Amino acid sequence: MRQIHIREVGPRDGLQNAHQQMPTATKKAWISAIAQAGVAEIEVGSFVPPKLIPAMADTAEIVAHALGIPGLEVVALAPNLKGFERALAAGAHKVTFPVSASRKHSESNVRMTPEQMVEEVRKCAAHPHPGVIVEGAVSTAFGCTMQGAVPEDDVVRIAAALAEFCDHVSLADTVGYANPAQIRRVFARVRREIGGKLRTAHLHNTRGLGLANALAAYEEGVRHFDSSMGGLGGCPFAPGASGNVITEDLVFMFESMGLSTGVDMAKLLEARKLMVAALPEEPVYGHMALAGLPKGFRAAA
Ligand SMILES: [Zn+2]
Repeated sequence: MRQIHIREVGPRDGLQNAHQQMPTATKKAWISAIAQAGVAEIEVGSFVPPKLIPAMADTAEIVAHALGIPGLEVVALAPNLKGFERALAAGAHKVTFPVSASRKHSESNVRMTPEQMVEEVRKCAAHPHPGVIVEGAVSTAFGCTMQGAVPEDDVVRIAAALAEFCDHVSLADTVGYANPAQIRRVFARVRREIGGKLRTAHLHNTRGLGLANALAAYEEGVRHFDSSMGGLGGCPFAPGASGNVITEDLVFMFESMGLSTGVDMAKLLEARKLMVAALPEEPVYGHMALAGLPKGFRAAA
């Protein structure tokens, strides 16, 4: 029984920020290898204008490939109705919509206020989408490179607005500003507002607190985590810093605590090799891959 649900976001969050482009065929093989390792949910790409992010231009083809992997929940990101329509046409099981809690980030990134962005997602959720799960992702929920501090009241208000029409809501530390005390406080506040609709912690390891923050979220009742293999992606605002929480290290933390992730470490490291070989110039991170499993290690049953 899986007690912790890990969603690999490397093919989207990682590759979208990578310096190198991964060929479509390699992406498919990588996604298959990740699923083979037991990861049951993968964010495989985003339906943004290809001119804006060329690395995501093949997302429809990648979704089609991922749909052929038995039991895999296939997630795509969409920033607006046009992207949502493309995601629905491609057949994604779940579509995640980012809404920045930082006013400055939202205005400079999508030229909309957070409130206008919430309305954009409301419009998407009202569009027929039989059987497809709609997720609202509150990004820059713990701080922002443009604005600095993001008021917790703003995060709670946006999460509550999204919960009115989204199936799930996630909170994202997009730029790795969060600390464990803040994670506990904000997740607890949002949980009081929207209960079980609060689902996923999307954490970045930019300042090395990724695992500490994941543990804090776990202690606050979170059981769904986003992470990326090799901490792929980095952060354009923090050169030399890793990207998302590292999947391999997150799996190791939970498994060694006796909490089952359903992920096979040996197979996960095989999938990592495939990714590293395909992106030779890309910095990749991870303690597990360097040190290996400790002697006598036993995965959770
Ligand atoms: Zn992210």
